[in-house]
Amino acid sequence: MTSYPIYLDYNSTTPCDPAVLEEMLPFFTQQFGNAASRSHAYGWIAEEAVDIARERVASLIGAGPSEVIFTSGATESVNLALQGVAEAYVRKGDHLITWATEHRAVLDGCDRLEQKGCRITRLSVDSQGLPNLQALEDAIDAQTVLISMMYANNETGVIMPVREVSAIAHRHAVLFFCDATQAVGKRPVDVVADGIDLMAFTAHKMYGPKGVGALYLRRKAPRATVTPMLYGGGHERGLRSGTLNVPGIAGFGKAADICREQMEEEGSRLLRLRDRLVEPLLCIPGVHFNGRRESLLPHVANLSFSIPGGDMLLRRLTSKLAISSGSACSSASLSPSHVLKAMGLKDADALASVRFSLGRFTTGEEVDMAAQTLLEMITPLAKG
Ligand SMILES: *Cc1c(COP(=O)(O)O)cnc(C)c1O
Repeated sequence: MTSYPIYLDYNSTTPCDPAVLEEMLPFFTQQFGNAASRSHAYGWIAEEAVDIARERVASLIGAGPSEVIFTSGATESVNLALQGVAEAYVRKGDHLITWATEHRAVLDGCDRLEQKGCRITRLSVDSQGLPNLQALEDAIDAQTVLISMMYANNETGVIMPVREVSAIAHRHAVLFFCDATQAVGKRPVDVVADGIDLMAFTAHKMYGPKGVGALYLRRKAPRATVTPMLYGGGHERGLRSGTLNVPGIAGFGKAADICREQMEEEGSRLLRLRDRLVEPLLCIPGVHFNGRRESLLPHVANLSFSIPGGDMLLRRLTSKLAISSGSACSSASLSPSHVLKAMGLKDADALASVRFSLGRFTTGEEVDMAAQTLLEMITPLAKG
């Protein structure tokens, strides 16, 4: 039985998988120890749970366990990477490069660094959402310390050319940081093969709990270090002090394991469902894809409804469909998406765009109901 509103906003957040919740529960009550307590079994049990989770999370991304720092989420990981590198490499230089379509965590983090005296280059993208590699080469100078590019865009699902960009970074002896929040657990991400030096991701976008994330920090050359933001007990190799969120971390580990096992099959299932959702809509004149369709995450579709009343769709659908205009933070405001604007969309088309993101608990029935609901609403509008 399908119940309304149908959730098609998995890029904003995902429910915990029941197996993840199961994994977490004991650590709230019986096994409540502090993972840093070395003098008794409560602490050892908690520490062991963290060790297991660290192995699981590391294995999902092809890293070693000692390269994973647990944080409170991707926002914290992004801030630690940007501020931490800017501070740790201040002798080398003061210049960072990123793109206009990054998540607000990166863009606002860069604004802050700029206020503190760093130079920031914000590169543009083409109409498909993809970067110009020559423009990147041209932007690098002797003081460049970091190139920051996301793995896949949260609003459009466009997968970025990570390997090409990391190769350019390394050719110029610049570190490469990747906000891989939307890609990890959804498609193969391998920090070694992809040439990533620092990487942020979060549990709640991959069927784990909210409030726990990770920063991958490469230990082999080129070794990446950061200056910490939080000082205290010296947890996480001194890079992120604070008592570890043991239940959250245990859940993150379980979530990583499930994603690793199911990713491939789940990706093809969601691709079929996504196409089943969008094909009937694309038959309507004025409806089109945003972003290069051949390089999208399989579960994401960002569509423009350039028809009369297209900008009212979201509000008119709220009782039936849980969808959004893109980022959770900007959807409350009426300003057009910075991502779609950077891709060259006019304000009116950006405001008439909707992101559909499917996930593990999306069914074929839900997709058909959603398509039907949308068609019923837009067919009369499109006829004017
Ligand atoms: C969700 C998201 C974040 C923020 O993650 P939190 O864990 O909610 O802080 C950062 N970057 C991208 C690309 C995201 O999609």
